[in-house]
Amino acid sequence: MRVLVLNSGSSSIKFKLFSMEESIVLASGLIEQIGEADGRASIEGAPGVKSVREGKIADHGDGLHLMLEMLSEAEIIGSLSELDGIGHRVVHGGEEFHQPTVIDTDVMAAIERLSPLAPLHNPANLAGIRVVVEKSPKLPQVAVFDTAFHQSIPKYAYLYALPYQLYEQEHVRRYGFHGTSHHYVAKAAAVYLEKKLESLNMITLHLGNGASACAIRAGESVDTSMGLTPLEGLIMGTRSGDIDPAVLFYLAREKGSSIDELDALLNKQSGLKGICGSNDMREITDRALEGDERSRLALEMVSHRLKKYIGAYTAVLGRVDVLVFTGGIGENAAQLRESSCAGLEEGLGIKIDLEKNRMRKSGIFTISAEDSRVKVLVVPTDEELEIALQTMMAISSAHQ
Ligand code: AMP
Repeated sequence: MRVLVLNSGSSSIKFKLFSMEESIVLASGLIEQIGEADGRASIEGAPGVKSVREGKIADHGDGLHLMLEMLSEAEIIGSLSELDGIGHRVVHGGEEFHQPTVIDTDVMAAIERLSPLAPLHNPANLAGIRVVVEKSPKLPQVAVFDTAFHQSIPKYAYLYALPYQLYEQEHVRRYGFHGTSHHYVAKAAAVYLEKKLESLNMITLHLGNGASACAIRAGESVDTSMGLTPLEGLIMGTRSGDIDPAVLFYLAREKGSSIDELDALLNKQSGLKGICGSNDMREITDRALEGDERSRLALEMVSHRLKKYIGAYTAVLGRVDVLVFTGGIGENAAQLRESSCAGLEEGLGIKIDLEKNRMRKSGIFTISAEDSRVKVLVVPTDEELEIALQTMMAISSAHQ
């Protein structure tokens, strides 16, 4: 079975093509700067065999057309008809979607209806879906929602203490994101530990440019740090995470800041970048080692926020068996893993083995000490593989 996974952004399409039987990636690539003069498409088939095209890519349709042309030139696939299905990462599934869902016109209408909740993402995801419908209407397509895994969060945890009508009429509530990644690493951690997922309580930390924490009981999300949008919670590359919302009223009144300016302030100019000028963890770690005060401060702030969430989710879960680090930062930034867990040994039973933590390994590895009550793991995430697996399962069960 061949499954193509598409992750469409407002001006980009990331893709991976899987052969499911052999569990291998046949090709992967990125179409960038869609709509701009300097468009770029790159695909990689066999490791190291890369082809690149540059020039204007008018829209998502053009982008997918180019991708197929390049896959055909590389003799990977000749046309969409050689695929068994396409899995789309769809960011917002609202309260309607708890599961990966085979796409039909009703599902497309629902994704469109939910666009105000994810204005940068859902329309782009839908653009990718529409192009495939036009080119190959019979090809099964599946939407895998970032929000779906968090639909198990109980109402007392997902509601904001705002007038109840705002939930009923405007659907204002916590939805949570990165669900595909939290679910994937939780399952992978259980397999690695040779334990049943249902027997474990976990805290998973997805730390990349966007970052979120998730409390997982028996394989189900029971709380997560992102909210109505992916802005709430942890300190991120350019996003503030939690702040007192009154900061916004204060800035609007005192500086006359507009809604758009405040949106850009919190989403694009804050987080690590706002504190020390960079959102690249490698650069920040290097600069901190060279003695740069702001970089050091940014790292201290990130660890402090992480500790608060680890503590809060330990209280929510009552008992934690496993703590997972994942994402570009979680998988690579050993120093940050160490500082986020420092001081949690006695109270929370989280004890890192400093040597194991600093040894770079591929795949899943344990970084907790032998006598740590909580197992601490580094689990590389693979959202595309999880989307491909969910796509295959949704297509198979639709055929039954
Ligand atoms: P992601 O969004 O998951 O791709 O993660 C992006 C973040 O991971 C950026 O802040 C990168 O600086 C960080 N990152 C990637 N590789 C490393 C590394 N080797 N050490 C520290 N941070 C890294």
